[in-house]
Amino acid sequence: MSLSAKEWLTQLRQLPLSDRFRIMNVCGGHERSITQAGLRGALPPQIELIPGPGCPVCVCPEEDIYQAIQLAINEEITLLAFGDMLRVPVNVSKQEPRSLDQAHGAGADIRPIASPIEALKLAKSEPNRAFVFFAAGFETTTAPVAALLVEGIPDNLSILLSGRLTWPAVSMLLESDTPGFDALVAPGHVATVMGPEEWQFVVDKHQLPAAIAGFTSDSLLAATYSVCRQALEDRRFLDNCYPELVKPEGNLSARAHLSTALEVVDANWRGIGTIPKSGFALHADYAKWDARLRYPEYDEPDRKRAGKMPAGCDCAQVVLGKKYPNECRLYGTACVPRNPIGPCMVSDEGACRIWWSGGVRPD
Ligand code: SF4
Ligand code: SF4
Repeated sequence: MSLSAKEWLTQLRQLPLSDRFRIMNVCGGHERSITQAGLRGALPPQIELIPGPGCPVCVCPEEDIYQAIQLAINEEITLLAFGDMLRVPVNVSKQEPRSLDQAHGAGADIRPIASPIEALKLAKSEPNRAFVFFAAGFETTTAPVAALLVEGIPDNLSILLSGRLTWPAVSMLLESDTPGFDALVAPGHVATVMGPEEWQFVVDKHQLPAAIAGFTSDSLLAATYSVCRQALEDRRFLDNCYPELVKPEGNLSARAHLSTALEVVDANWRGIGTIPKSGFALHADYAKWDARLRYPEYDEPDRKRAGKMPAGCDCAQVVLGKKYPNECRLYGTACVPRNPIGPCMVSDEGACRIWWSGGVRPD
């Protein structure tokens, strides 16, 4: 059924919802659309939209950012990273740079890029200089990195990969005693690459209503309506509310690149800890371009501390959907976008940053 956002809202307001109904999203793009369009305020009060683990920058483990900083400072290299990563703070002594931005200020050659192709172009344009691409992202961002590797990258470019899969984080939450949500709106962007089938476990294994949504208000509201109705009618299925782009099995070529160049490994999520089979690492066939192997001295296992966020910062709970951003006592006081304390206030996909930009102020 194709309706406008206004029509979906009318339908939603007519649903006989009596109890609180909590719907989690796991996509920074979804959260931004919800907040910017003011959907929370427009929905019936029983419906709560909870931002979950939808920001790859926020969950990028401290040890990876620290490794990138140390590499950039100590090696004769150019470090390339997506712009969002540059201001993410790590816990270090006052004498050390606490972000890539600060390392840049201290003289390291660190350049922001917008896409993996840019990394390729830069490396090709300076063949005598070593480049390291710090590639942090979910499936959608990691697939083009895998494509680069499969299609061939120059020897002077290596990859410091911090790629993550989204569904294992949702699975981990659902396996816990307190998942904290009653239905899931799954990320359409990820499903276009990996296929909708990845999210079927939410319905089959956990008997929760689920729907895949795109980024527009009407798609998000269609998914919201679908999961509410599934709950009311006591039937569960994975509803594809983004059929224009989400096709069965996803993007086969992108998935082939991912499985050729990378392997799925247990991975640490900042604020959450290790989640089994939730990360990407370069496949042994591509070891030559793996910055972790090329520069092993900067891997500091001691820094792998689950839940390590800056003091007083509730990003860990925000990422897990246990707290709303404005429930953190630093939100809008000590922590604002120009002076972020935690990663969720840095990235455009971080819930705190999105809420602040959307005009949400401390209670
Ligand atoms: S990469 Fe795309 S699908 Fe993933 S969180 Fe960001 S906007 Fe959502
Ligand atoms: S407001 Fe700042 S300190 Fe609090 S959870 Fe968000 S990013 Fe962390």
